[in-house]
Amino acid sequence: MLQADLIIEHAHMMTISSLGEIVSGTLVVRGEAIIDIIDGDTHPYTAKRIIDAGGALVLPGFVDCHTHLVHSGSRANELQYRLQGMSYQEIQQRGGGIYASVRATRAADPETLYRESLERANMCLEHGTTTAEIKTGYGLEPAAEKKMFDVIHRLNKESDLETVATFLGPHVYPEDQEPEKYLDWLLHEGLDLAKDQAEFVDIYCDIGAYSFADTEQFLKAAKEKGLALKIHSGQFESLGATGLAADMSAVSVDHLDHVAPAEFDALLRSDTVPVFLPGCSYYLRSTYPDARPYLDAGMPVALATDYNPGTCPSLSLPIMMSLAVMHMGFTTEEALKAVTINAAKAINREDRIGSIEKGKQADIVITSVKNFDDMIAMFGVNCVDIVIKKGKTI
Ligand SMILES: [Zn+2]
Repeated sequence: MLQADLIIEHAHMMTISSLGEIVSGTLVVRGEAIIDIIDGDTHPYTAKRIIDAGGALVLPGFVDCHTHLVHSGSRANELQYRLQGMSYQEIQQRGGGIYASVRATRAADPETLYRESLERANMCLEHGTTTAEIKTGYGLEPAAEKKMFDVIHRLNKESDLETVATFLGPHVYPEDQEPEKYLDWLLHEGLDLAKDQAEFVDIYCDIGAYSFADTEQFLKAAKEKGLALKIHSGQFESLGATGLAADMSAVSVDHLDHVAPAEFDALLRSDTVPVFLPGCSYYLRSTYPDARPYLDAGMPVALATDYNPGTCPSLSLPIMMSLAVMHMGFTTEEALKAVTINAAKAINREDRIGSIEKGKQADIVITSVKNFDDMIAMFGVNCVDIVIKKGKTI
């Protein structure tokens, strides 16, 4: 017999790899990696830990490629404003929105910020997310941005959630500083901080946030420093930054509720991952964008939660998949690819995570359902039973 550390038997696997769907198979883990996948129930392995999945659906760990998970405080009060018909911009003008989170995050001591964020990281894991990208952008000044980075890195070290750090210094302009001064900080010291602390930089280009010209300047400066680019674009209006980011080989362009035809063409000729965030459309009660043209064009479309305390306070990727299938033209299998291999591509990790393949990291979700369609159909029910991260059962 061959020695392994963990064997999952009688697994109905959707591998999201060339192995396709395996109705009853065996998944073998040694250390942090998947070392074998067998189509069938007989195998030559032995291990201390054997899980009998009993025919349950087994999936790659989910990848949330766009979150604002680190922040202090709650903005649940904004729900009532929203129900009264107040828009995102009106709530922000009344001192709510992003600025409320900025004030709370600046005021929080590092330990409190870590504890609040750790609770959310554990919530991610409970819903099958094993890797999450996390953005700064609730600091909007040097010390608080650094404090957010410290929490993101500490979560990666001390929690079971793998985290990926993105600098979103240009989230909005701070309330308490001249925009020109802040932009100057972003373009120099801000990008130096990003170079030291982050894998990606991001900018929010939309009405009420950064203009096209600011965005172009920031992305160019970031690229010159060798940083990989991401962008929030087209949530409320298309300012042209989606096309710009695609032409600048951004790793991903996120939101895409409003995209001009020329921007779609720019995405088409690029390697940039289009990331849709249906939780925002749900919570802002706006129209869902149609992802079908992107999927039909063969783009590696991803889905993420955009978890944040204002416009999508949910960390559940299964809910996002249900919304995408019901409202945005995704097939169930396309939705699964969008939170696994394509989401991994949106954070430059498609060679390590996002599918069940030999040699990949053993990030696995064992569900309580037999078929993937059951998971999509049972929206709001957590069908995640066991989560395995880097070979370790959580
Ligand atoms: Zn976002």
